[in-house]
Amino acid sequence: MEFMKKNILYFSLFFFVSSLVVSGGLFTSKINSMISNRDSYHDINQAWFSGDDEDIYNSPEQKLIDVLHYTIKLDLFPEQKRLKGDVTLQFVFTDSHQKIFKINFYDNMRIHKVLWNGSATNYSNYKTSLTVEPKVINDTNYVEIFYEGRPKNLGLSSFVFGEINGKSLIYNISEPTYASTWFPCNDILTDKASFDFYLTNTSSQVSVSNGSLIEKFDNSGRTTYHWRTNYELPTYTAAIYSSDYKTFADKYVTASGDTVPIQYYVLPNHFEDAKIDFEEHPKILKVLSQLFGEYPFAKEKYGVAEFLWQSGAMENATITGIGSNFVTGAKMFTDIYVHEASHQWWGNCVSPATWKDIWLNEGFATYSESLYDEVVFGKDALFSNMRKNFRTDFNGTLYEPGNNLFSSKVYQKGAWILHMLRWEVGDENFFAILHQYFDLYKFKNASTDDFKKVCDEVSKKDLTKFFDQWIYKGDNVPVVNYRWKTKQDEDSIYYLVLDLKQVQKGDMEYHFPVEVKFLYDNPEDNYSEIIQVDEKHFEKTIKLKKKMNSIAFDPQGWLLVEFNDFNSYE
Ligand SMILES: [Zn+2]
Repeated sequence: MEFMKKNILYFSLFFFVSSLVVSGGLFTSKINSMISNRDSYHDINQAWFSGDDEDIYNSPEQKLIDVLHYTIKLDLFPEQKRLKGDVTLQFVFTDSHQKIFKINFYDNMRIHKVLWNGSATNYSNYKTSLTVEPKVINDTNYVEIFYEGRPKNLGLSSFVFGEINGKSLIYNISEPTYASTWFPCNDILTDKASFDFYLTNTSSQVSVSNGSLIEKFDNSGRTTYHWRTNYELPTYTAAIYSSDYKTFADKYVTASGDTVPIQYYVLPNHFEDAKIDFEEHPKILKVLSQLFGEYPFAKEKYGVAEFLWQSGAMENATITGIGSNFVTGAKMFTDIYVHEASHQWWGNCVSPATWKDIWLNEGFATYSESLYDEVVFGKDALFSNMRKNFRTDFNGTLYEPGNNLFSSKVYQKGAWILHMLRWEVGDENFFAILHQYFDLYKFKNASTDDFKKVCDEVSKKDLTKFFDQWIYKGDNVPVVNYRWKTKQDEDSIYYLVLDLKQVQKGDMEYHFPVEVKFLYDNPEDNYSEIIQVDEKHFEKTIKLKKKMNSIAFDPQGWLLVEFNDFNSYE
């Protein structure tokens, strides 16, 4: 998922350029609404999720259910803002003693009946749980739920019967725990399943979902789109979109020569703009495949559908939703398209083990934006991107995202962790880590510790200190105050005497390698040395090639560390 995060300067530029070619007033109000939306979503986030909620939402009994497949039949009635559902869960109990079938489903929907392996059975629906009384338990079982109603709008939308330009647009954002507002499901990250969707709406509406379109059929003015995914997906990435979309297509050819369709579903008035904005997608999939391993859903598709969440985009599996604000025809938002595409690897294919591991989604996707720019524009683009992500006001540990799973800490500090890991282990190891991690955990779940094990193994280093200080325990950003002087010995050799002190709050002592650059009158004489910071306060003497003018710490920008020069040693 990506929230709009451009700063005001960027908007001013956007406005400036736009106002030259289009009506200024229109764009001013659009930009203002984008800014205020962004702020209001940050407010909403403050109270909408915490780690404790995860334990309440997911009962211990749910963890013993393995859903293999969902068949989701939805009849959509946008004028009444209602839907009729017929959902079948094919599942096994992972523990043979398990006799309780308890899944997630919000209790505002009206349930007509529930079948257990084809026979009507009793059930209770309370708050976010649906408990179904088992009849005969087979190895593989089927529970079918018939229901109707208007899904709640929770979290960042959950399920929306929206409208734009007087036309209906239906979409959902289920992340993290809102899939069960619109279909009954075992809404746990670790229970992935395949899906069949039968989406029925008036025939003017195009209905889209995960996977591939199997068939489309009409029945008295209504059209059903049947989509199927053979890949197992986490429930929060299951998605539907339905509107009077115009469609166009492109393709990505994998390294082994397979063709992956790329399908676009856009608002009719954005058709020409979308063709311009989206044209980089084949290149995006190609570059990301080179960086991480082949596009995971190559046998189905990649797709993008416009939706009405105007604060960003959501990486639903094989069918990303992009806020209609982010289609302009001016290629302003390629970074968002890269971010969402990268989630097809990080999140949709390698899924987090718990929501505490959300940085494995968002930190990876944010760093992917920089990696993509590095490949396309060169190394300077990498560092300039990371400078934009540089902040020193991250509070709390990365592993405790608190009640906001989608804070800048998760995104930007998460990206910085990967950038620093790369500095720590070197480029070759770093990219080998990404490949191996993807390869080991594709279509599975991974925890932060699983990722650490891959890092340790590939780099042949014990990265416990690295993970502790940056992810598990370090709850702030290190601040290093330094002083320096030069001295000359009796043989006329110059030395740099450095005094370094970590002054951030708290007890955490950070260890990291840092490049120190020695600066001369003639820049061609400049050279660097890497020193290891491994104490909170220490003095170090470094032999110099010749007397220099000054020094620079971390001149390229590899570290999320604030360096302050207190040049008053003498
Ligand atoms: Zn994201």
